Amino acid sequence: MPTRATKRGDERTPLAGEYDVLVCGASFAGLTVARELAGSGARTLVIDRYEIGERQTSACAAPTEWLEAMGVAASTRQTFDTLVVHTPHTTVDFRLPWTFSTFDYRELCGLLWDQCDAEFETAKVEGRSGRTVHTDRGDLTSPLIVDALGWKRVLAGNAYQPPDAPLSRGLEVHPHDSSDRLEIWIDRGYVPAGYGWSFPARDEVRIGIGSFDPRFHVKEPTVRLAEDLESDAVRYQGNWIPHKLRPATGEGIFFVGDSAGHCLPLTAEGIRTAFYFGIACGRELRSVVAGRASAADALRRYGEFSATHEWKFKWMLRTQKAVPRVPPRMLALALRGMERKSFVDWSFGHYLRIAHPSFAQAPAPARAVDAEPALQPAA
Ligand SMILES: Cc1cc2nc3c(=O)[nH]c(=O)nc-3n(C[C@H](O)[C@H](O)[C@H](O)COP(=O)(O)OP(=O)(O)OC[C@H]3O[C@@H](n4cnc5c(N)ncnc54)[C@H](O)[C@@H]3O)c2cc1C
Repeated sequence: MPTRATKRGDERTPLAGEYDVLVCGASFAGLTVARELAGSGARTLVIDRYEIGERQTSACAAPTEWLEAMGVAASTRQTFDTLVVHTPHTTVDFRLPWTFSTFDYRELCGLLWDQCDAEFETAKVEGRSGRTVHTDRGDLTSPLIVDALGWKRVLAGNAYQPPDAPLSRGLEVHPHDSSDRLEIWIDRGYVPAGYGWSFPARDEVRIGIGSFDPRFHVKEPTVRLAEDLESDAVRYQGNWIPHKLRPATGEGIFFVGDSAGHCLPLTAEGIRTAFYFGIACGRELRSVVAGRASAADALRRYGEFSATHEWKFKWMLRTQKAVPRVPPRMLALALRGMERKSFVDWSFGHYLRIAHPSFAQAPAPARAVDAEPALQPAA
């Protein structure tokens, strides 16, 4: 659990130095990279503008198996074996072949951090020149720099701004309520292209709207969905969500998680992919630290590994574009047809395999960093 408060004002002492690995961003992707480097002997610095776990960045629902594989299952709040999908003309219950769990963000980040042996500092990243990252507290240098800073891809140095960039937008409220149903709404009454959700997490429910079209404002429908569920629209949390894969390396930088567009289109699931690609990146960095590979090799292999997933991301993006075009009555018919157990098992099985939890399962000291090639998709 984080113990330090964010250093502000006079307490914000200058920061400078040279590190073996510099991880910028201390959320799902950055902490996973640092966790993968534990025990490697690398002097790793993780920086974020906030303390670890201070600012929740999602509705925090992920496949339970991933939480177990990452050693963070203790942060679980609720587990669901059924996904309830509402449309204006039908409601279907998908009995999943694996479960989803909601978790507490601060606790999960704390549990990831417990598995790291890196140093941490709060600092706002402002830019980069070559191997030097400029922060509001000073300059930091490293031969191995990771951008896990989210959708802005700050270290790439090129503008990636909504509404022109391939970004969705999401907003949610967190009323103190409870429910035992994991629900989504595909309903143009709330959002023309996108979906609404209600993800219970024991003593709060995360109710929100995601729009695939960044120009569509999600505040009013989020409030309306909360009202329809007789919940209070309180404690807001929202952000842009990338829905297009981007090169995972460039100018000598490793991009992981939302900064590489690793969030899945259609479902906006970006936590397990941040874990998955964070592990992949960490394994490559580890092989450089151990002297088994050059930084150039690691960049090439990690970039290629990410790119081998491109067709899956493109397929999800095509579906994201197609679903809003299906007339609502036809969508209801299609969903009822998909309710069959054999179909649900098949489709959700494929979906999980895009970033399967078995990828994380090798125990830390025995991770396959020696093997060539280091990175193989798990399933
Ligand atoms: C409303 C909403 C709900 C969502 N719900 C889910 C869900 O239930 N399940 C799921 O799988 N995905 C969900 N997502 C997507 C998911 O949140 C992202 O894909 C995921 O957070 C990506 O992780 P990341 O570590 O790459 O980036 P982030 O989690 O965005 O972390 C980026 C980190 O970088 C730091 N940072 C940013 N800029 C700077 C800077 N200049 N200097 C220093 N630090 C900086 C931030 O403080 C943050 O800690 C949701 C997204 C939204 C917006």
